[in-house]
Amino acid sequence: MDTRKIIDKIIEKSEASIEDIVKILISQQDSYLFEQADKIRKKYCGDEIHLRAIIEFSNYCRCDCLYCGINRQNLHLKRYRMNLDEIIEYAKKAYKAGYKTIVLQSGEDTWYTREKISYIIKEIKKLGNIAITLSIGERDFDDYKQWKIDGADRFLLKHETSDEKLYNSLHPHSTFKNRIKCLKWLKKLKYQTGSGFMIGLPGQTLNTIAKDILLLKELDVDMAGIGPFIPHPATKLKSYPIGDSKLTLKALAITRILLKRPHLPTTTSLEVTNVKDRENAFYTGANVIMRKVEPYKYRKLYEIYPNPNIKEKTIEEERKEIENYIKIIGRKVSTQRGDAIDK
Ligand code: SAM
Repeated sequence: MDTRKIIDKIIEKSEASIEDIVKILISQQDSYLFEQADKIRKKYCGDEIHLRAIIEFSNYCRCDCLYCGINRQNLHLKRYRMNLDEIIEYAKKAYKAGYKTIVLQSGEDTWYTREKISYIIKEIKKLGNIAITLSIGERDFDDYKQWKIDGADRFLLKHETSDEKLYNSLHPHSTFKNRIKCLKWLKKLKYQTGSGFMIGLPGQTLNTIAKDILLLKELDVDMAGIGPFIPHPATKLKSYPIGDSKLTLKALAITRILLKRPHLPTTTSLEVTNVKDRENAFYTGANVIMRKVEPYKYRKLYEIYPNPNIKEKTIEEERKEIENYIKIIGRKVSTQRGDAIDK
C-alpha cells in the first residue's frame, strides 16, 4: 500500500499499526501527510493558537535523567527556587498580559511539599478564569489527588520513550512502570492529561517512535509534547547528535491524524533546532505554544538543554511578539483557556 492510502486509512479508522507508522516515517513524500494533519487540526481545533505561560519555578531535581541538563549530577549548575509568593506574583503578571493558562514546571523538587503546591494553586485560582497545568514529575497518588481538589486542571508527564528497557536505562532513579502508573492515576483523577516523547534519543528506532505514538493513543491523552532530543554538554549524552526536526514534524503530524483532538504544542526544543521549524509545526498539526514568564535571571538557569533563543524581554513584550507572529502566519490568538477538546 502506498503511504497516501495508509494515511487515508488512519484518518478514516483512527487506527494504525506499527508497520503503517514506520512506512510513513520512512517515506520521503511528506507533503500529503502534512496537508492532512493541517486539515485535521483545522477541523478539530480551528485556527486558534493557544498561548500558555510557563513558570519554571525550580531547577532543583532529585532525578538522574541521562539527557537532562538539570539532572542532580550536574554540579556546575547554579540552582534556584522561586518562593511561593514570587510564583504567584508572576502568574498574576502573566494573567494580566492575557494568558489563560499557567503551566507550573520544575525539576522533581520535593522542597515543594503537597501543602506548598496546594497554596500556590489556590492563590492562582483566585486570579480569575485561569487554567493551571502542573508539570512537576512523579509524586504520590494523594498529592495528585489533593492538587486536583485544590483546582489544578491539567498535568503534563511525558512518557519520554515507550521502549521500557531504554526508559529504564535513561532514568536510573525510576522505572517506566512507575511513569505509566502515574499517568494512569492522573487520568483516573480526571486531570486533562498530557504526555509526550523525544525524537532522537540514543537507542531509539523508528519502531520505538511508532510505539510512542501508539502509546499516546492508548493513554488517550488530551495533550502531547513531541520534541527533538538536544544534547546538553554537562550530561552523559553530550556527544550524541541532536534529534531530527523533520522526523519530529512527521511524528507530530501522524499523532494529529491518528488521535485528532489533543492539543499539540510546537515545543521549545523544536525552536532551538531551527526557529523556522516552530512555524512548520503550525502547518503540520500543532495548535499551542508556550512562553517562559519567570524572571529572566532564572530562565537561563532552567537549562534542560542549551537554548540560545532566550532574550531579556518583559512578559508583555514577549506576548505581543508572539501575537504578531501568529497573525502573520494567518492564525488567530485564542482568547479562551483552551481546555481538552471533547470526543
Ligand atoms: N520534572 C518534570 C517531569 O519529569 O515531567 C518536568 C520537567 S522536565 C525537565 C521537562 C521535559 O524536558 C521532559 O519531559 C523532557 O522531555 C524534556 N527534556 C529534558 N532534557 C531534554 C533534552 N536534552 N532534550 C530535549 N528535551 C529534554
